[in-house]
Amino acid sequence: MKNKILNRLKKMIFGSSALLICLSLFSFKSEHPIKKDTVVNSFKLRTIIIDAGHGVKADGAPPGHYSRGATGSFSSERNVTLAIALKLQKAIEKDLTGVKAVLTRTTEDDVSFERRAEIANQNKGNLFISIHCNSLSDRVVRERVGTKRRKPVYRTVRVPDRSGKGALMLIYGLHRSKEEENAIKSNQVEDDSDLNGDALDPNDPTVIILTNEYKRKFRKQSVNIANFINDEFVQTDGRRSEGLREQGIYVLCHSAMPSVLVETGYINNPDDEEYLNSEDGQNEIVNSIVRAISNYKRQIEQQVITNTN
Ligand SMILES: [Zn+2]
Repeated sequence: MKNKILNRLKKMIFGSSALLICLSLFSFKSEHPIKKDTVVNSFKLRTIIIDAGHGVKADGAPPGHYSRGATGSFSSERNVTLAIALKLQKAIEKDLTGVKAVLTRTTEDDVSFERRAEIANQNKGNLFISIHCNSLSDRVVRERVGTKRRKPVYRTVRVPDRSGKGALMLIYGLHRSKEEENAIKSNQVEDDSDLNGDALDPNDPTVIILTNEYKRKFRKQSVNIANFINDEFVQTDGRRSEGLREQGIYVLCHSAMPSVLVETGYINNPDDEEYLNSEDGQNEIVNSIVRAISNYKRQIEQQVITNTN
């Protein structure tokens, strides 16, 4: 009985002291409501790295990872991505006051993936946007040779697959499962073959550590910028898009900043190739990316303020 009363008393004391602590915290907060003012605008999006995918490997280029890129019927990914990147740099510096845009390559010469990440980090980028064109690899079909013979003979031939169309956003990640891999293969969804040289080994312990670190720091913001770009392409430009996908891409993970790889369209699809090479198409892509960056910038600069409340 005595114990019961003691316990009740204890509860009352602890309960009321807890309440007092809560109240004092509350009153402390309301007495000093504008603490956030001291840190307002501590983060500004100042430097954006624009990475034009691929290029022509120059004679005597230092060893490293290079990739040729995809080709269409009359154009190459390396030229299209450079044209879009140059326009994007101009548009960013014109439309987004106080934001600098740094290119990882400005000529046809290719730059290794290692060097691209190095340029991004040396310039202290706050955001990394890699510009690419997608393409589907050839379909392999079996074809009957001659029709006169009684016993049919078949041969295997490769047929171009031009059915891929629209944009795709890639953000860094490794979690694609075996089932997803198989689904992708059997459905003949886009093949990121032009990125093969840039692929990371998901079983390498260093890659796993890097991935976890990257995800912890930059994944959320990478998803945000990717969604902003995707929304502009789909809602403003009325284009088809396959949305966001995670993939282990060296250049994204080694750039210590939020990043997205924009597959701007399928260069081996006749309609997309036309669009990607046209002035109107390139300007539309550039304007959409600039609007997306502007939305992202507003969001991230406000987010810092709210987080410090
Ligand atoms: Zn590419």
